[in-house]
Amino acid sequence: MQEVIMTTEKYYQHDVDCHELNGRIEAIQNDGKSTRIIMDRTVFFPTGGGQPCDTGTIVTPDGTSVSVVDVQEDKESGIISHTIEIDPSETDALQVGMTVTQKLNEDRRRVNTQRHTGEHILTGAFIQLFGGANKGFHMGGEYVTIDMDYDGKKLTEEQVRAAEKLANEVIWANLPVTVSTFPNREEASVMPTRKPVTQDGEITIVTIGDLASPHDCVACCGTHFHRTGEVGLIRIHKFEPNKGMNRIYFECGDRALESMQSDDTLLRSVQERFSAGSHDLLQKMDIRDEKEAELRQDCTGLRQYYRDREMARITSLLHRDTPDFYQDSFTLVSPDDLLKLGFAIMEDEAAPALMALVHRPSHTVLLFSDGSRNCGALVKEHAKSLGGRGGGRPDQARALMPNEDAVEKFIESLKE
Ligand SMILES: [Zn+2]
Repeated sequence: MQEVIMTTEKYYQHDVDCHELNGRIEAIQNDGKSTRIIMDRTVFFPTGGGQPCDTGTIVTPDGTSVSVVDVQEDKESGIISHTIEIDPSETDALQVGMTVTQKLNEDRRRVNTQRHTGEHILTGAFIQLFGGANKGFHMGGEYVTIDMDYDGKKLTEEQVRAAEKLANEVIWANLPVTVSTFPNREEASVMPTRKPVTQDGEITIVTIGDLASPHDCVACCGTHFHRTGEVGLIRIHKFEPNKGMNRIYFECGDRALESMQSDDTLLRSVQERFSAGSHDLLQKMDIRDEKEAELRQDCTGLRQYYRDREMARITSLLHRDTPDFYQDSFTLVSPDDLLKLGFAIMEDEAAPALMALVHRPSHTVLLFSDGSRNCGALVKEHAKSLGGRGGGRPDQARALMPNEDAVEKFIESLKE
């Protein structure tokens, strides 16, 4: 016989302060990957409207406790399913018809409610000050975001800071947050909502502040505090253009305080590193940037000077006696400098048939040829068997050897 499951009673809608509730198990579903429980009523808010679900535990009469890790609502049937983490040996502990105790993860609920109620307050602040519309809301792991639409116009820093200030003033005013339920859309239309109600069936309208001239009023299914003061704090981290709108990143309550504390710690360590305070940190960073640019310029000049000197030394040696094979070692400059030096030498009329320039610190051997030897093939043939890596073209190749000994053996093999 097929189970007939009734719509789940959404207890969190009637009593948002309830953190522990009894519920009767109506069904236990298992698809081989996860186990889901359906109960007659639930204290757990399911993922929806931009707000992540509650988590927590379900405790059986004999004291077995299982974790609720995900809660989802089937919008058509109104049935809410709770995904649980359960050891296969313990599945018998749960039975259809059993009354269990549902316990919320209270910290998670509080943070979600701070963020969610905060979103109403901040959106209301933007709309009151500058009009526009909220076209998106997302609660992420790192930030909460809203997308404010101003017909393609970008918000300025001053505007965003003004909205942040007004939002915090609304928190400090400790305004009431009223949740009103209407049987249908028509009856809900008496409310001064900031956007038209489009949902069917029972409608929940959330109003911040005075019902006659609210700070914010919108249809919403999330969890809310009774007064704005409980949000504690709203902090905007950044804002940026996004798909023709303005994406505002912010945090509320506990998370806002945590982010301020960690940013403060970071700022202090940067200030210590620059021996600066808030007033002169940027100035001291500018000075360091300038010094770094000067050093980089000096370094480029010195490298060029060194290459020129080495070019003169090596070509004078080669002019005296042009060998078939020439090798040299370097420690001061980078392999890239040696590459430039090698190509310059091979342009000279006294260039050898084959040349190996070794960068000692990295055990890198750069090979150059006048065309009579194939550098890439030599690396393949001799370097790999010695544990080296690399390759290249017939006129130039690079071998990265594992150690000094392998470098010596590779060079010896080139003389054969
Ligand atoms: Zn809401």
